[in-house]
Amino acid sequence: MWRVPLSSANRDAGFVERVVKNAATYLKLFHEVIDAHMPKPSLNFRDEDMTSYDVIMEQRRYNLQLASQIRLQQGLITRENAGTDANPVARIPAELERNYTAVLVPGEFSKKSVIQMREVKASNIGQLVSVRGIVTRASDVKPCMQVAVYACECCGFEVYQLINSKEFNPIIQCPSDKCKTNRVNGQLIFQVKSSRFISYQDIKI
Ligand SMILES: [Zn+2]
Repeated sequence: MWRVPLSSANRDAGFVERVVKNAATYLKLFHEVIDAHMPKPSLNFRDEDMTSYDVIMEQRRYNLQLASQIRLQQGLITRENAGTDANPVARIPAELERNYTAVLVPGEFSKKSVIQMREVKASNIGQLVSVRGIVTRASDVKPCMQVAVYACECCGFEVYQLINSKEFNPIIQCPSDKCKTNRVNGQLIFQVKSSRFISYQDIKI
């Protein structure tokens, strides 16, 4: 858990206000900044310290690198776009690599602007809103899918699907070049263990 305190004691008040008013975008930016500054594993990282998650990620990077190299040799891609946005095949979504969650911690600015539940309007979407109310029911903490991972049963290609809502349509057909070239309808099998989930809770006010 990475806490971003929204207190004007150590920050510019205007900045805090901008973050509160546009919290969803800023949270995305904070994640990107933290990703960029996350230290890489040290060289003497021991095998026994690796979690199953680390092993899967390492294998994934290796596979994608290998696939990218083969495509490079075949002349399908150029060296410049291997492993970048121009070649999404060789790209693992950042959400899948993240093993932390960044949260905004409301400061005095939010405390001053506590509103009633009925005052929450559509214009508040994307903002950090502080409400006051009585919780009448709280659900258990449940897992919510953030990145769904599928594997093709024909070519073994791994597909990542970013989920931004509670419901989503699963991808069924393999989009890999191998399946397209061979004109095979590769069926995608959902991989629960390698997908990424975040915790969420429903609260009735
Ligand atoms: Zn396939």
